[in-house]
Amino acid sequence: LSRSIEKAQRLIGKTGTLTAENMKEPLKEVRRALLEADVSLPVVRRFIKKVEERALGTKVLEGVTPDVQFIKVVSNELIELMGGGGPGAKDLEPGFPQIILMAGLQGVGKTTAAGKLALYLKKAKKRCLLVATDVYRPAAIDQLVKLGTAIDVPVFELGTQVDPVEIARRGVEEGRRLGVDAVIVDTAGRLQVDEDMMGELRSIKSAVRPSDTLLVVDAMTGQEAANLVRAFNDAVDISGAILTKMDGDSRGGAALSVREVSGKPIKFVGVGEKMEALEPFYPERMASRILGMGDVLTLYEKAETAIKEEDAKAAVERLMEEKFDFNDFLNQWKTMNNMGGMQMLKMMPGFNKISEKQLYEAEKQFETYEAIIKAMEEEERTNPEILIKSMARRRRVAQDSGQSEAEVSKLMAAFTSMKSQVGGMSKFLKLQKAGGDPA
Ligand code: GDP
Ligand code: MG
Repeated sequence: LSRSIEKAQRLIGKTGTLTAENMKEPLKEVRRALLEADVSLPVVRRFIKKVEERALGTKVLEGVTPDVQFIKVVSNELIELMGGGGPGAKDLEPGFPQIILMAGLQGVGKTTAAGKLALYLKKAKKRCLLVATDVYRPAAIDQLVKLGTAIDVPVFELGTQVDPVEIARRGVEEGRRLGVDAVIVDTAGRLQVDEDMMGELRSIKSAVRPSDTLLVVDAMTGQEAANLVRAFNDAVDISGAILTKMDGDSRGGAALSVREVSGKPIKFVGVGEKMEALEPFYPERMASRILGMGDVLTLYEKAETAIKEEDAKAAVERLMEEKFDFNDFLNQWKTMNNMGGMQMLKMMPGFNKISEKQLYEAEKQFETYEAIIKAMEEEERTNPEILIKSMARRRRVAQDSGQSEAEVSKLMAAFTSMKSQVGGMSKFLKLQKAGGDPA
């Protein structure tokens, strides 16, 4: 008995919170880490300020120090900031083909990324056409033609004597004629942001009306990333970015700068010169690379797992005493649907409909259940039978939660089903405890 009391105390035990005082040191460390990762200084400042406000008053998880808790908050914030589809991730528009415009400075990897994207889409059974508009360097057209040949994707080009805007326009026409799924327009870059380049990009953009304008950013860009992204975003309103050369030793701070400055998502990461070296962007991975504090976060996860195990045990114990209620339901539902795991989505707009949709539906369903459960009276929440049996109560809960009665019924069914599932498990455990053979 004393052991289970101890356990219970550990579970509800009072924990500390994050204060200005105990955040001071880890704040400095995070600041240093971000600057070392080449996140642009103004971005670091804004981020630190935001995270400080957010973290203040956060409960410190049992079994970890405030430092570790703070790093966890920072990591979550980084993931949240860089993750999600963002305003650029829209679905395929009805009029095919999807038109993707590549933008960026010279040498960052635009042409390479255009080829990689084409191969990526080809593997997803999408047909592409590559369009070469870099007429300033004859080698640039040859480069794209060679890439196209290597991956067996057609390349549209009109040599170096035709206006790039005209090439882009005719390239898109050719794509329509061929009936491809996507036209990828490669463009010329300059060594620095200049008006010629931006003017040409703007003209190409208004000529072809791309569904995506992807800014290609070299991960080695460092401190300049913020200014660069601002310039391109102001000029052509990018829809997202591709971060290249992440196979190098850059910590990838540019990713944070891109997102923070433009609000647009990183969609892909280039990890080598080969055409296969393209990966979807995973905010978790990038956050951990930028922050470089994997060990600290491992500590946090261990403490969290320990508590989760206690929670699961407690839920089973409650069930054995037939006390499984709506609060337990919400916890279990979230775990079983692994909502965090589903966040790892491919970022290509329009080509990831299913997973986006699944995630959206799982989240919506959870929100609905949560709203309904919140609208219950305490006795209904902890004693589900009275609600399951009373139509009048169910109607009231539906009204108070703003959900339909059908949704409430659905929740009752889901609850009963989960209870019996978990109940089966607990019977098994009881039998085991009693020394019986559960089979
Ligand atoms: P562009 O001028 O923007 O079109 O750049 P290119 O596509 O021609 O690439 C410039 C150089 O960067 C080439 O040598 C590419 O092979 C190289 N490159 C492009 N992407 C990557 C990448 O993800 N990793 C590495 N290591 N090299 C890359
Ligand atoms: Mg190029």
